[in-house]
Amino acid sequence: MVVEFMNDPNIASVFFHHIPEWVLAGHVAFGKDKLVPIGRIHYFFHWLYGKYEPLILRLVDWILRQTFITQTAIGSSVMTGLATTSHYLPHGIIVPTSSAVRLVRHIENLKDEENTPILAVGPCVCQMSLNRWQEPSCKDIVVLYGAEIYLHLNRGYRIITAAEAQAILEQCRDAGLVHSLDFCMQSGRWHFVICNCDRDICVLTRTFLLTGKMLYAGPWIVKQDRQTCLGPELCGNCVNICMFGANYVKEGVISVDGGKCHGCGQCVQVCKGNSREMIRRKRYAHEHIIPADILLPG
Ligand code: SF4
Ligand code: SF4
Repeated sequence: MVVEFMNDPNIASVFFHHIPEWVLAGHVAFGKDKLVPIGRIHYFFHWLYGKYEPLILRLVDWILRQTFITQTAIGSSVMTGLATTSHYLPHGIIVPTSSAVRLVRHIENLKDEENTPILAVGPCVCQMSLNRWQEPSCKDIVVLYGAEIYLHLNRGYRIITAAEAQAILEQCRDAGLVHSLDFCMQSGRWHFVICNCDRDICVLTRTFLLTGKMLYAGPWIVKQDRQTCLGPELCGNCVNICMFGANYVKEGVISVDGGKCHGCGQCVQVCKGNSREMIRRKRYAHEHIIPADILLPG
């Protein structure tokens, strides 16, 4: 219905006459080897989402703070149902810093001829929407047409290089935050932001923690060497830092649940025994969104 409306040349010309010129400019999205143009319907709907995103985040935050939702089985089922029906709203693929850096460098190398902005950073949209600030707060790395949209929404975003993005990603990693490559419509063409998430404020992560929805495992998984692990008494850092609850202690021994590991790499950073490394996941399920050969070394 909406698509028919947009495709009618008479109606569409009147409609588009009333929206800013920049909405109609050429925009680029993510393609495996090149930037690909996106249509104005794509751009317009994402612009609309960006405009009302703070409102959506405040609403979800309010839902997540209701004890009926968090502490009853019915409430949690309701939330899981809501998360399931949000299939085409932003979802994220979890990656370690090395992969997020590879992605921003890949995007920078794909610069398009029109030289439109393709990397920008601004205040964390969750922190801004909920007015709950925590450093680092300037960490919303918007990419491709997402950079254009958020620059025009005028919320304090600025254009950055891939080198600057790398510095921000490393700062976020050192603060214990997890990189999430977010996209809408279950499509890589709708990839628009690299979020750096915590477990207290980030709305997407909090929704995941309650429902198990909206965040996907990336192309890496952790491998642990039990021989060199210092154990929970002398270390235990992996258990504390993992926001996916993938590490557990059984009879004084630490193990990883591979089914829960999302491949963020945080436990490797804090492992006192150098007992952990990231390895390629056997089955990466989101090749169609962001291909593994962009995220992994050759
Ligand atoms: S086990 Fe390590 S790599 Fe896997 S999700 Fe947890 S912190 Fe991240
Ligand atoms: S962080 Fe490393 S050394 Fe520490 S408990 Fe976990 S695996 Fe063992």
